[in-house]
Amino acid sequence: MNEYKKRRIVVAGGGTAGWMAAAALARTMGDAIELTLVESDAIGTIGVGESTIPPLVNYNRLLGIGEAEFMKATQATFKLGIEFENWKAQGEKYFHSFGLTGLDHWSAGFQHFWMHGQAKGHGASFDDYCLELKAAYASRFSHLPDNRMNYAYQLDSTLYAAFLRKLAEADGAQRIEGKIASVQLDGANGHISALVLESGQRIEGDLFIDCTGFRALLIEGALHVGYDDWTHYLPCDAAIAVQTATVRPPIPYTRAIAHDAGWQWRIPLQHRQGNGIVYCSRYLDRDAALDRLFSTIEGQRMTEPNFIRFTTGARRKQWHRNCIAVGLSGGFMEPLESTSIHLIQRAILRLIRMMPMGEISERDVAEFNDQQMTDMLQVRDFLILHYKATERSDSPFWRQCAGMEIPDSLQQKIALFRETGRVFRKNDELFAENSWVQVMMGQGIIPRAYHPVATKLSDQELDQLLAGLRDNVARTVASLPEHHAYVARYCGAQQASAA
Ligand code: FAD
Repeated sequence: MNEYKKRRIVVAGGGTAGWMAAAALARTMGDAIELTLVESDAIGTIGVGESTIPPLVNYNRLLGIGEAEFMKATQATFKLGIEFENWKAQGEKYFHSFGLTGLDHWSAGFQHFWMHGQAKGHGASFDDYCLELKAAYASRFSHLPDNRMNYAYQLDSTLYAAFLRKLAEADGAQRIEGKIASVQLDGANGHISALVLESGQRIEGDLFIDCTGFRALLIEGALHVGYDDWTHYLPCDAAIAVQTATVRPPIPYTRAIAHDAGWQWRIPLQHRQGNGIVYCSRYLDRDAALDRLFSTIEGQRMTEPNFIRFTTGARRKQWHRNCIAVGLSGGFMEPLESTSIHLIQRAILRLIRMMPMGEISERDVAEFNDQQMTDMLQVRDFLILHYKATERSDSPFWRQCAGMEIPDSLQQKIALFRETGRVFRKNDELFAENSWVQVMMGQGIIPRAYHPVATKLSDQELDQLLAGLRDNVARTVASLPEHHAYVARYCGAQQASAA
């Protein structure tokens, strides 16, 4: 048995990743660890990352965070999914919602029954069977019994980090402000032994969590693990973000609007809207991107534009020696589908599960890297789908996307769906069948066949099933309050500060 030694854990960086890590470690591990976080006010954070996905709800619950208090503190709104405009073709749109569409049978997803309905002359759209989707378009929201409404948040990530900081400090995390000037390695085993600040202060530790963002000061700067570049699959490499004043009540969904060299986001919060343009610098230059962003945003600009460059990809190792990369230091696959904060969450929970007792187990390290990379590759496939499965050929960017080679895993998923309408979820994959079905059909991949079990239903049973599901969705949506009114009542930040 390893002798238990109190771990000294050092988190380098205080962005969303750093404070999410510190808050979870401090709350879960308490006195079993000594926790220090170093951040530099002079460097600051990336200042974007506002759209999230449903697992964050559970992450907050795990930390014992009261939802209304958290939403008030972060100016958050509810998010029921993402609307994709101009991705399949210009002028067309589809919605990727959280939750389920219709009712799955254990042997076959709802899409098979819906397709059978289509063959029998039922005209209703697949969308009509999804509560979250219809609620989003009606701009309505409420918590429902048995968590029937699946949701995430649209939030101010700077405020979220500040909120988590309070929590982490109350739970015993020590914060040190200062710029890391160098990273010292132990000559014997190559582990990180200390961070040295510009002030000369040394921060020693047993385990170091690299949350220094794109700089990746520890995992790459000191340990040189290498980076897998995925630009050939995910070609966007630049973004510009700007915040604007709210011009209408916030809607409960994020918008992703494709343009001829990338896409734009709109994320409505309580007090403002987050806007940004993501683009491929090979096909659009910075000035043209900025013009396009400015010419399409609504409402008065509240911030100067934030110019960001990135290379889509992942560190070859997320855990190496005594350093774990969490957040942008571990890689980045662009903001489409809002998966970055989720990958942070997965890495932190995984690390807590594999917290070393004495010496670091290389088996833990290998397991961590394998699991984290599996997550990233699955997310990567899902993102590539949006670019590859397009009918757009109106620009060199879209022609490149449509013609690019894709991973075999994605090729198989698309071909299987096209031939059979089936999607299988492997290894606890983040995106479930409903997500793949909505995006594949939204991007124009229509199955040629459906499961024979759907034909087992008599015409009358099929009518009843489809009409019943649709009515249920329509009735539930009609009974929901307006999203903005619900937010104001439940967690209204402006109301709270005015009170
Ligand atoms: P940062 O925010 O960059 O934090 C790095 C920290 O390290 C800072 O505290 C900095 O001060 C510190 N630091 C760096 N160097 C030093 C040093 N020498 N000394 C001391 N401290 C140092 N994710 C989502 O989930 N949803 C989204 O909608 C979304 N949108 C995005 C849009 C864009 C354009 C981009 C680029 C990313 C987006 N992301 C999104 C990703 C999200 O922004 C990040 O995952 C998240 O903010 C975490 O960033 P981070 O904490 O790793 O890095």
